[in-house]
Amino acid sequence: MDNTSANQLQDLQYFGEFGGVNPSISDSSTYTFLSAKTMFDTFEGNTEGCYLYTRHSSPSNLYLGEALVALEGTETANVYASGMGAISSVIMQLCDAGDHIVSSRTIYGGTYAFLKNFVKKFNIDTAFVDITALDIVEQSITSKTKMIYCESVSNPLLEVADIEALAKLAKKHNIPLIVDNTFSPLSIKPAALGADIVIHSLTKFINGTSDSVAGAVCGTTDFCLSLKDVNSGAGMLFGSTLDSLRAASILKNMRTLHIRMQKHSENALFLAQKFEADGFRVAYPGLDSHPGHETIKNQMNPAYGFGGLMTMDVGSLENANAFMELMQTEKLGYLAVSLGFYKTLFSAPGTSTSSEIPMEEQIEMGLSNGLIRFSIGLDNDIERTYQMMTDCLKRLNIKPQTVLV
Ligand code: PLP
Repeated sequence: MDNTSANQLQDLQYFGEFGGVNPSISDSSTYTFLSAKTMFDTFEGNTEGCYLYTRHSSPSNLYLGEALVALEGTETANVYASGMGAISSVIMQLCDAGDHIVSSRTIYGGTYAFLKNFVKKFNIDTAFVDITALDIVEQSITSKTKMIYCESVSNPLLEVADIEALAKLAKKHNIPLIVDNTFSPLSIKPAALGADIVIHSLTKFINGTSDSVAGAVCGTTDFCLSLKDVNSGAGMLFGSTLDSLRAASILKNMRTLHIRMQKHSENALFLAQKFEADGFRVAYPGLDSHPGHETIKNQMNPAYGFGGLMTMDVGSLENANAFMELMQTEKLGYLAVSLGFYKTLFSAPGTSTSSEIPMEEQIEMGLSNGLIRFSIGLDNDIERTYQMMTDCLKRLNIKPQTVLV
């Protein structure tokens, strides 16, 4: 078992300004220089270890970046004010007007909207494909294609991308593979499987306390520096900079990521197996019935399991809404978007996080109306949680769906 990432995170050790056990937070937007020449050189990007202005970089953001390097095993990492800040910067950095992108069709709704609608302003076209069908992915690549984009485990349908195979394809066509690894930190290491750039919404599992919005881009030093370039860097010029106070708090939360991921996965696997055995249509990559089960087994670190996300179909939107409201009343969790919290979070993606995706496309990709996405929490007694959820289903007379929608 490869424990490198967790060990490298463990080995990070900083001393604060007064010998504190946490690094000092850099509470400044701008930095002084003793000589005007050094300021000029720093602007030109020629000075190591000098800080200029926090939109460019700050010590607190660099500390968090180092932790992300330990996690993903890339040369460097930049942090951003949100996952979308990271995603939009990468896409705009790599594409010129008139370019083309091949993307998985099952991705986070915001990313989908960005690729489908926003980049149209620049005549950038996206082919949305079934990322598990490698022949279709390859057929969609044109001379204008600038990247293959996917999520390692997709939002919300939990499709598993074969990163190694996609990376080979990308290399064959001399384009980068960009992987959003938000759902599977520690468990999947896309760069080790050949991905060129790894993106995270730190808002989710990595932070884990649902109190911050942040993102990261992990990649080569050259690419990360290009994003920060004062003249042409999308990160620098869009200005989606993470605040230093938030960077410091996320860094502290990352120290428990390995324990949290194990528990999220253990609890999600338990519930997925139970509800599937009860006859519900459950999607969870840890189930034998999941189409991506073998793929994920080949590329994951078993110590961190199959992740904390599962979906369950309760037949209709009315059932889904009633079930979610009752679970919230019973304190089983929150009817809320997002993921990676200590309490279970649930939402119906068709009417929330994936509502940007047109209805006919939702149906085509298998996003049914009664689908609930669960981010399973760190519940101490998951057997009790299962009993309580089952009780809610019984009270609402929701029975397993025998007919596939
Ligand atoms: N990527 C994935 C897989 C997500 O689920 C999300 C948000 O839900 C994002 C990116 C966007 O991240 P943020 O909300 O931090 O901008």
